[in-house]
Amino acid sequence: MERHVKENPSEGQSPVTDPGHSVKCSPVVIDDVLLNGTTLDIPAAEEFIHQSMAIIIEDAVKKATDVREKVCEWRSPDQLKELLDLELRDGGESDSKILQRCRDAIRYSVKTTHPRFFNQLYAGMEPYSMVASFIAEALKPSLYTYEIAPVFTLIEDAVLRKMMELIGWEEGGDGIFNAGGSMSNMYAMNLARYNHSPDIKEFGLSAAPRLVMFTSQECHYSVSKAAALLGIGTKNVYVVPSDKRGKMILSALENKIKAAKSEGAFPFMVNATAGTTVLGAFDPIEEIADICEKHNLWLHVDACWGGAALMSKKHKHLLKGIHRANSVAWNPHKMLMACLQCCAFLVRDKTSLQLCHSSGASYLFQQDKFYDISYDTGDKSLQCSRKADAFKFWLMWKALGSIARHYAYFMPEFSNVCFWYIPPSLKNLPDGPELYEKLHTVAPVIKERMMKTGSMMVGYQPHGDKPNFFRMIVISPQVSKQDMDFVLDEIHRLGKDL
Ligand SMILES: *Cc1c(COP(=O)(O)O)cnc(C)c1O
Repeated sequence: MERHVKENPSEGQSPVTDPGHSVKCSPVVIDDVLLNGTTLDIPAAEEFIHQSMAIIIEDAVKKATDVREKVCEWRSPDQLKELLDLELRDGGESDSKILQRCRDAIRYSVKTTHPRFFNQLYAGMEPYSMVASFIAEALKPSLYTYEIAPVFTLIEDAVLRKMMELIGWEEGGDGIFNAGGSMSNMYAMNLARYNHSPDIKEFGLSAAPRLVMFTSQECHYSVSKAAALLGIGTKNVYVVPSDKRGKMILSALENKIKAAKSEGAFPFMVNATAGTTVLGAFDPIEEIADICEKHNLWLHVDACWGGAALMSKKHKHLLKGIHRANSVAWNPHKMLMACLQCCAFLVRDKTSLQLCHSSGASYLFQQDKFYDISYDTGDKSLQCSRKADAFKFWLMWKALGSIARHYAYFMPEFSNVCFWYIPPSLKNLPDGPELYEKLHTVAPVIKERMMKTGSMMVGYQPHGDKPNFFRMIVISPQVSKQDMDFVLDEIHRLGKDL
């Protein structure tokens, strides 16, 4: 902060007019803290923002998405600590030094918007949602009340409604954007439990019997985290086997539900995954909905990854039956390319989000306000401050129209392309444990080499009894056929000696 202070009384200079105040005020120091001073030189701040914007455009947008540039500039943690000079000191630095720090931060960051970044379930540069992020950062709205965030509260409402329409909830529902799909899954579990045992809200876990939920072995790890956090317990998450394609086996689900009941436990929820993290598989939602209906279980669909298919005429059959879900998690920051984060939790019941989470803080959610307080959505949320994430999706949709057809058409079964690279030395080995053991070590070495070269980023993992394989996620329409060819050539170049 010190660098903004033009006047420091200890230097004996005369006070200047703060452009924000009509009265001249003299800075005073109280307990080493400067008060009443010109803490912010507005023209200088504007100039600094201008200069940094130029750097952002040049380095974080243009260069970051230029295929001729590197995806990453790998440094070890120790090297990077050295380079970044991380220590925070008492004295401030000049703006030019700070601008250099901005450049360095960009330089050593991974360019997830680069056309050759295939490592994660998000990628690509989307200008409209990026600008929406900038605007939201500049305005610092927080979505607890209409009073503080009138525009963004209404935008969130509009976006949620549209998403519910795509899910097929003709009667509408409720929802909230939040800090991640993991959190959406946690919301779902909490609501499902509240639906089963509403007394828990007031009386805690002692008000509930032993509750059990069901999910496939391919589900996202946040499901077990939520069970741990909510006091359900990870052992009460019954894992249902999946078939070879990664889809939940229905007869196995039935068996697990029966088993839980015969143990005297209370089944309360099934989590179906639409687009699994590794294989991109879709659980058969319609059939799972039948089972849930039969046993009176809450159906949550984790469509964080696969929800985007709802926007594609060609692919929405993958989520057939999703309109029967009680709740849905869907991350537009993944396949739909909105800037991180942009995660919606949607629930078919219109009141439970409020009933389950409200605590009625009277300093924020006054009931005698002068406007329609149904727009004060903050009490439905677990967070207090909340970002205007829906704005990113909204602006992008406004700009592109039904973005879906734009982005979603080029999904194969789904965009997880999983493959082994078999180096020439292993070509003649027969299928068996020896091949698997050797193959297991290939992808990690190639990954190390690709990151040190910086030419591209593709993830790898083992899966069940399968040795390490590459999982290439193709999302961005900025990816060309040449980029795809490049990946295969580059993997061969990096791994042919193994
Ligand atoms: C990405 C993902 C999540 C987690 O979402 P975050 O926003 O990263 O917390 C949950 N479930 C599935 C299926 C996902 O693909």
